[in-house]
Amino acid sequence: MSESSKGEFSRRQILTTAGLGAVSAVASGGMGESVTAQQPSQPVTPRGGTLPPQIEFPPISEKTEVDTGGPPTALPPERRLGFAIVGLGRLALEEIMPAFAECKLAKPTALVSGDAAKAKQVAQQYGIKPQNVYNYQNYDNLRNNPDVDVIYIILPNSMHAEYTVRGAKAGKHILCEKPMANTVEECQEMIDACKQANRKLMIAYRCQYEPHHRAMIQTIRNKELGTVKLIQADNGQHQGGDLNQWRLKRALAGGGSLPDVGIYCLNATRYLTGEEPITISAQTFSTPGDPRFKEVEESVTFQMRFPSGVLAICSTSYGFHEARRFRVFGSDAWGQLDPAFSYSGLRMMISRKSPTNSMAENASEVRMSEKNQFALEIDHMADCVIQNKQPHTPGEEGLQDQKLMALIYQAAQTGKTITLPRVSGLDVTRGPAPRTLK
Ligand code: NAD
Repeated sequence: MSESSKGEFSRRQILTTAGLGAVSAVASGGMGESVTAQQPSQPVTPRGGTLPPQIEFPPISEKTEVDTGGPPTALPPERRLGFAIVGLGRLALEEIMPAFAECKLAKPTALVSGDAAKAKQVAQQYGIKPQNVYNYQNYDNLRNNPDVDVIYIILPNSMHAEYTVRGAKAGKHILCEKPMANTVEECQEMIDACKQANRKLMIAYRCQYEPHHRAMIQTIRNKELGTVKLIQADNGQHQGGDLNQWRLKRALAGGGSLPDVGIYCLNATRYLTGEEPITISAQTFSTPGDPRFKEVEESVTFQMRFPSGVLAICSTSYGFHEARRFRVFGSDAWGQLDPAFSYSGLRMMISRKSPTNSMAENASEVRMSEKNQFALEIDHMADCVIQNKQPHTPGEEGLQDQKLMALIYQAAQTGKTITLPRVSGLDVTRGPAPRTLK
């Protein structure tokens, strides 16, 4: 919330909501016709089984008190699905490996890395068998490893397609980091390879599994903001330091701020509305002479119009200090997450006109317990394999962002507004909403 908008509130009301239960039914819109669901014909998990029943306690507080969510319903270690982690970089070591400690259905069972010493050390830290450490050459031998059900690809963007295709051919389900790949053609190859191998493919759009984002989706779909008119989304951060890093190389990254962080804004406008844009215009800018931006762009702004009339204004940059937020402007109220795209510390605000004072706004913070987004996302993948369900963010979701990013670059290059065919229905590139695992 900006300083100026803070001053508009005559009263600050803090609401506390209970856990995630009410939010889990959000956006359960099914897959549209444009998506071909992967429906494996044989049982897909060797470890199988459904979740054990929830452990119940007698109530010790009033119904008006915050629901703690209850004790977790988790699978015992031997029945959890095994994940192979491919690429032991920052995200893998700082977020994903620790997140497994909060998973209920998944465990790390193999590592794939080009650095044998690092992989050995990480394997020791997480109790992964030494024989379950692979490199990029013998990666395909994962096919013979029954400890591994799912491969989680956390490599530079240009490598996502190759390791997805090889992983699917090795008979494993694939969870792949965003952006799905560098080109639309690569995304399609990944979808086709997984379909042909009868394996599931999920793109790791962590925000779509996160409680604040799910609550905002529900708020919008319930029309609690009235009719949504505009979404403003910004995601940017300084990128620099090592000029040799892959994010600054076009061949490895596919682009600059847009596929790396701008994709969060693009994806948010799509999952908040459930719609697909019908027009796109865009601008890019890179500071002349800045050695970071010889190959990839620094900043992008893009504007979209959606079939219902919602407008979106998005920005992303590798040049500005930091912004990771969105605000949704409805006819009756606005709702925002700021920060929205961070790993933790998300905050949700709703502001509407006071019913008793036409000069005043009622702003409420909607508070809910924080969950590890990565653990939720990983457990969703495991749940989809166990239940033989389509992931909420399948390959088709990543493909659609890739198509739109290509059009954003095209619009910026030509200076022309691009018109797209109208897609009817909501959430046409998404599988069923993730269920809440206690
Ligand atoms: P990183 O540079 O820290 O790690 C990349 C890993 O790939 C390293 O272990 C590196 O050794 C390995 N690698 C293999 N071949 C390589 C090559 N040719 N060049 C460079 N590295 C090579 O990157 P990261 O930040 O962990 O990002 C990895 C992926 O995760 C990217 O696709 C990125 O977009 C995604 N990511 C997602 C999130 C999220 O919140 N979901 C956050 C950060 C990164």
